Amino acid sequence: MPIPQAFGPSAASDGVPPPISRPSAAAHRLGVPAMPGLEWNSEVARETAHLYERIRAVVPAIEWPFFAPYVRAINALKKERNAVILAHNYQTPEIYNCVADFVGDSLQLAREAAKVDADIIVQCGVHFMAETSKILNPDKTVLIPDSKAGCSLAAAISGADVRLLRAQYPGVPVVAYVNTTADVKAEVDICCTSSNALDVVESLGADTVIFLPDQYLAKYVAGQTKVKIISWQGACEVHERFTAEELRHYREDDPSLQIIAHPECPPDVIAEADYTGSTAGMIDWVRTRRPRRVVMVTECSMADNVQAELPDVEFVRPCNLCPHMKRITLPKILDSLLHLREEVVIDPAIAAKARRSVDRMVSLRR
Ligand code: SF4
Repeated sequence: MPIPQAFGPSAASDGVPPPISRPSAAAHRLGVPAMPGLEWNSEVARETAHLYERIRAVVPAIEWPFFAPYVRAINALKKERNAVILAHNYQTPEIYNCVADFVGDSLQLAREAAKVDADIIVQCGVHFMAETSKILNPDKTVLIPDSKAGCSLAAAISGADVRLLRAQYPGVPVVAYVNTTADVKAEVDICCTSSNALDVVESLGADTVIFLPDQYLAKYVAGQTKVKIISWQGACEVHERFTAEELRHYREDDPSLQIIAHPECPPDVIAEADYTGSTAGMIDWVRTRRPRRVVMVTECSMADNVQAELPDVEFVRPCNLCPHMKRITLPKILDSLLHLREEVVIDPAIAAKARRSVDRMVSLRR
């Protein structure tokens, strides 16, 4: 199904709200514990040895003395603060495997955020993910270790753009990928992730749907449904850099190589893939199929995290780093838990409207 029409992104913000003042209101309320010791010694080595075992395949032993004191301090502070850490699949192995309580793609993290039993959520991912957690948990303190962790998709469209689209296409339902700001979520009918985009579009029972902001995910969905899709021209700066040509070269070198791609990639890249799916879908595919050699056409850390779990699979790595995801580090997570910053704050009226579209997605079971 061809895309009938697309629109250019407006002069958008960077997808991240203005900086939040420090120290946070939560730190004023709850106090700031003493800075834990961060020296590497035999006690730290003993206490963290089981965690290093999880990442031995992807983190050299020489690096562990730097990570381990932070890992120990963060895990102790989580208990003291009654906090949980939600980490996206693109987080680095020492975060994903050693301090996270829940890991997953955007949909899995949104579902965990909806049922989490803790006073504080630390979101190790990008800003729109932390906003989604706050939208679903308005009474909890939601922190992001670096509030500048944005996203090119979230920056591609604003709430005002959605209002203009609605004026141009009256009555046409609007689906927003979760990679959008709270402002945008407040203006749409329902959210989706790359795991459930097709189900969400078809759940609306409409002939035509506006799907934003990812033009490539829109094309991928349009190729699998009879619903006419009106798309926006946003793109993920990480996935749009892959090319079909580089994948063909890898395949020529090794015809048995398996290629799996994320639907944020351009269509010609997806056409080269043996499987296309969300990050959670890609991980499940590798766990189930156990290929000898595989290329994961997505952000680099995901291959590291799956490699840590499945050292017998060889991951060929034409991968691209997401500079926003990489803003999150162990020292910043520790700082975030100590000083309860950066606290995610959303206008309550916007949060209430955005919650409707996120709740509708989270409760969709198909
Ligand atoms: S990988 Fe792409 S979609 Fe994901 S956070 Fe980075 S820029 Fe956004």
